[in-house]
Amino acid sequence: MNNKTLLENLRNIPDFPKKGVIFRDVTTLFDNPDCLQIMEEELYDLYKDKGITKIVGIESRGFIMSSALAIRLHAGVVLCRKPGKLPCDTIQETYTKEYGTDTIEIHKDAITSDDVVLLHDDLLATGGTMKAAYDLVKKFNPKKIYINFIIELTREGMHGRDNFDKETEVTSLLEV
Ligand code: IMP
Repeated sequence: MNNKTLLENLRNIPDFPKKGVIFRDVTTLFDNPDCLQIMEEELYDLYKDKGITKIVGIESRGFIMSSALAIRLHAGVVLCRKPGKLPCDTIQETYTKEYGTDTIEIHKDAITSDDVVLLHDDLLATGGTMKAAYDLVKKFNPKKIYINFIIELTREGMHGRDNFDKETEVTSLLEV
């Protein structure tokens, strides 16, 4: 897709969080009403005919467009969070990161086997975070799982989308 307005408004921060890394700052897409509207329209076009019933937003930048799209699709929003933030019983997934491990969780009753789930996050890099969320959502045995990112890193030797089964449709609004 690579909408020109989105590309022009994405802020790139060199050497953050460490030297040599270019951080893609999506907050400049969220605080711009034109960009918000473009992202919502593009997401709606991608998912309007898929029968999505739940959108799982990954903490925390994944929450923003999950909510906007869910309202438009008349779907529910499910929060995928770091441990200790959700108040009721959860199912967890632990995954390996560059340094150590991390855990994410979802409320146990938030997804059922009748749901068609869209997983959404702001950015795909190595794919470790979304793979954990994908494996976690699979435990709920939903009818189908889709995956979306606002930004997919493809030009930095990244192959994040290789983490997911071939039959799972993965989309992104911007490839950088
Ligand atoms: P991955 O697990 O390596 O795919 O990293 C993706 C996760 O890290 C997502 O939850 C992103 O929010 C975050 N992330 C990594 N790099 C960036 C970046 O350049 N901009 C914004 N978020 C990033």
